[in-house]
Amino acid sequence: MTQNSQKIRFFRRHIPQFECVPGCHDCCGPVTASSEERAQLPARSEAQRAAALAAWVCPYLGEHGCEVYLDRPLICRLFGTTPRLACPNGKAPAVMIDPRLEEAVYKSLAETRQLLI
Ligand code: SF4
Ligand code: SF4
Repeated sequence: MTQNSQKIRFFRRHIPQFECVPGCHDCCGPVTASSEERAQLPARSEAQRAAALAAWVCPYLGEHGCEVYLDRPLICRLFGTTPRLACPNGKAPAVMIDPRLEEAVYKSLAETRQLLI
């Protein structure tokens, strides 16, 4: 397992979780992830990715919301857990993310080559 994979597992375990407004995907859009995260997602063709990007949506957003919820990238998990990425619908975990963990996630994102998912 690579160092980045270990970090991803750690962040996934420690970023607080919360319940969204059912069916909401207001914070979804084109997002990036590391190659390790992207490899865990089902394949999408370049045509599918291009069509999603042209419509400014995520290629994993389906009729009933995120189709890869359990494997969604770190940036999707971070949304709503910090005042920097506050949920526009007022949803949040009982305890927001620890600022040191948040910084560690940003540092990891900055140090890792990010690819459009
Ligand atoms: S974090 Fe907020 S905006 Fe994003 S899906 Fe959940 S409820 Fe909707
Ligand atoms: S991976 Fe899921 S949660 Fe993240 S932007 Fe795409 S549809 Fe939304």
